[in-house]
Amino acid sequence: MKLSIDPERCQGHGRCVLVSMELFDVDDDGNGVVLIAEPGPEFADDARKAVGSCPEQAISYG
Ligand code: SF4
Repeated sequence: MKLSIDPERCQGHGRCVLVSMELFDVDDDGNGVVLIAEPGPEFADDARKAVGSCPEQAISYG
């Protein structure tokens, strides 16, 4: 399963980081970045939660 953020959609709300600081960080411009591009199954719940929490539908997991 791959986790990614579409930089065209991301508006830098940072909600993904609040869901998981292991999976996400923000760059110097405040936009979300993925820290683990292919997270293991132990991260599946957090990855799905992040997808649902992003107000811009910028996060893909699948
Ligand atoms: S929650 Fe969505 S819009 Fe906000 S920083 Fe994360 S990916 Fe970007």
